[in-house]
Amino acid sequence: MKYKITELDKGVEQLSRDARELFYRFYSFEISTGSLKIPVEMENWVKKRFGSLERVENQQIVSIKNKFTGEHSLFNKLRSDRPIEAKSAIALEELEEKGKCLFCNPEKQTPADVFGRVKGEYCITGSNIAKYDSSHSLVIFNEHNPLEIKREWVEDYLRTGERWFEEVSKLEKKKLQKFFLWNCLWRSGASIIHGHIQLTASRMRYGKLEVLEKVAADYKREFNTDYIEDLYKVHEGLGLASENKGERILFYLTPIKEKEIFVISKARKSDEMADTIYKLLRSYLNMGVQSFNLAIFQLGDYHIARLVDRGSLEDRNSDIGAMELYAASVISSDPFKLAQVI
Ligand SMILES: [Zn+2]
Repeated sequence: MKYKITELDKGVEQLSRDARELFYRFYSFEISTGSLKIPVEMENWVKKRFGSLERVENQQIVSIKNKFTGEHSLFNKLRSDRPIEAKSAIALEELEEKGKCLFCNPEKQTPADVFGRVKGEYCITGSNIAKYDSSHSLVIFNEHNPLEIKREWVEDYLRTGERWFEEVSKLEKKKLQKFFLWNCLWRSGASIIHGHIQLTASRMRYGKLEVLEKVAADYKREFNTDYIEDLYKVHEGLGLASENKGERILFYLTPIKEKEIFVISKARKSDEMADTIYKLLRSYLNMGVQSFNLAIFQLGDYHIARLVDRGSLEDRNSDIGAMELYAASVISSDPFKLAQVI
């Protein structure tokens, strides 16, 4: 199936009756046209910039919402072609400058956890100096440049994170919630260039994860099937899913931001997902992604990983505005296209 997000109606139409019903159980969507009139003085510029006047004068908007989670995305491909004036030049050589990098010397230049450090083959843990939760530490990669990745490194980072989580769990009576995240480069919120994954072990379930948990529990009660399995089925039916070593990859229909990928795993520990995560990151880098967020957490028996592109390091404007914070996400990438590339 080779649809575009603007042909979502056709994609849904060709589904079997059951699959279509399942789709509509999850999603409501609308394809509409936003119209405008280009003044003569702008015509040449618009043609050069966007290819044709028609494309701009009648723009297709796809609005799709997950009825259970409230995740809502507004797609308009034209937005990725619009001029961005706030560019600041960034030299990728900067990523190789190790000059005063504290993380290049973690044992002397980063704090340790009270129980010490967990050492991996390609990384070491450090305690976060300004914590956002009581157990909040880092896996600091041996490799400085965060865009240099290898499969066995990713596996080691995650395994080291898991070992840290075990250490922290030993000190706590209450069951802790594992949340690993990788903010890569500035656009993603990372303040330090040197590659690192952040680890938290929280007593309180994070609000957004609790909402998802509640959605899954309510879904089970109402339909007597599994929310995550059905979410996968809907994506698979539309050609928006693939598999890698038993892990299921969704090219998410309601991305939080560009090119969001949702991985469903039955792994008991996150390092078992390393091959899939490595391959996805490799695909991201091949597509030119420079800055991303990766989050890994548990949901019932699943490990879920979510990965999102945060845009070009050259752009000064943030990719997230009031729409994303308070309403719905504005997206220019097409999950159908993503499914073909990855
Ligand atoms: Zn460094």
